[in-house]
Amino acid sequence: MEAAHNERIRIALSRAIKSYRANTNDALKKFPHTVKMAEEVLEIKEKAIGQMEKLAQQAGEAIEENKGKAYIAKTVDNALTIITSLVGRNKLIVKGKSMTGEEIGLREHLEEHGNEVYETDLGEFIIQKLGSRPMHILSPAIHVPKEDVAQLFSKIIGQEFSPDIEKLVAAARKLLREKFFQADIGMSSANVVAADTGTLFLIENEGNIRLATGAPPVHIALVGMEKLVPTLGDAYKVAEVTWRYANYAVPSYVSLVSAPSKTGDIEKVTTYGAHGPKELHIIFMDAGRTDLAKHPLLRQVLYCLRCGGCLYECPVYAVTAGHFGDKYFAGVGAVWAAMVSRDMEKAAALAYTCLTCGRCKVRCPMQIDVPEMIVELRKLIAEGD
Ligand code: SF4
Repeated sequence: MEAAHNERIRIALSRAIKSYRANTNDALKKFPHTVKMAEEVLEIKEKAIGQMEKLAQQAGEAIEENKGKAYIAKTVDNALTIITSLVGRNKLIVKGKSMTGEEIGLREHLEEHGNEVYETDLGEFIIQKLGSRPMHILSPAIHVPKEDVAQLFSKIIGQEFSPDIEKLVAAARKLLREKFFQADIGMSSANVVAADTGTLFLIENEGNIRLATGAPPVHIALVGMEKLVPTLGDAYKVAEVTWRYANYAVPSYVSLVSAPSKTGDIEKVTTYGAHGPKELHIIFMDAGRTDLAKHPLLRQVLYCLRCGGCLYECPVYAVTAGHFGDKYFAGVGAVWAAMVSRDMEKAAALAYTCLTCGRCKVRCPMQIDVPEMIVELRKLIAEGD
């Protein structure tokens, strides 16, 4: 594999792995209650995964009550049709990083419909401009060294850049800043959603999600139904465990979005679209998730918080990066490819590459038993299911 032979990628990954482990261990030492909270979150997720349709219904009602619009998309095609009807053509769109968007080829779909789309997460922006694909769920450009970023920015901005990280970040900030305020639509996903209040939790460090979901007049969120939990209190716990295992003591920002922007400051008349979006549209996508939830073993994949911890422990990922994956990576990615993307060829390649060493399970806050799932998946593949 190309990546395995690329020394620079290996160096970038080994640095990232070292710093992830040190940061996560420090964060867990500083906030030791997180380990117990992760057990509670596992219980919350186990129950929520069994009632995703009910929770989506409940969240939809809460969102409509809050004057937003909610949609349930049974399939990927349904989700794309809803998005097309909301977005239309020739729009400028700023987008937050979204694995669910990646799953359905959202950016490509919007572009095919004549829209101009800007990924606003720095790593995702680099990947978009390189015409590449993400190699990690949290750090999509984990494999791209600063020299390559400098070369890329020199090309797209038309000015010579040295591999000075601070200058590169400033250049991206300058370029994207005006897009946030020119955009017709901001798009995001969510890390977790509270069904009782219809609240989206968005965890980030860069501040791009705040801008993308706050500056344009319309906010559209595409959310996988596995992100739903019953209450605001549950959602907070999921969020805290997610960021801690994603190697942060605390992230720079957590945004909670429940309704369009509104004010009652003039004669107490509620008016929508004060400083933030006038419209909020939230699409809950099933696309195979409720079927997967019925499988006694493989349903575990839906508990995943996308903290990325397992990837840093995986010995195969350490040398191949995102090549050991499809829409999602490593062992979890194999199950996702089989059961959600329904790409058995890809799933087989991943399932038989997995070493079933179980190092991922030890790190996983949801104790997802990847080796157990991989053995089951291989059985399904052999049986031709
Ligand atoms: S499988 Fe576990 S460790 Fe890996 S991303 Fe999901 S929650 Fe995190």
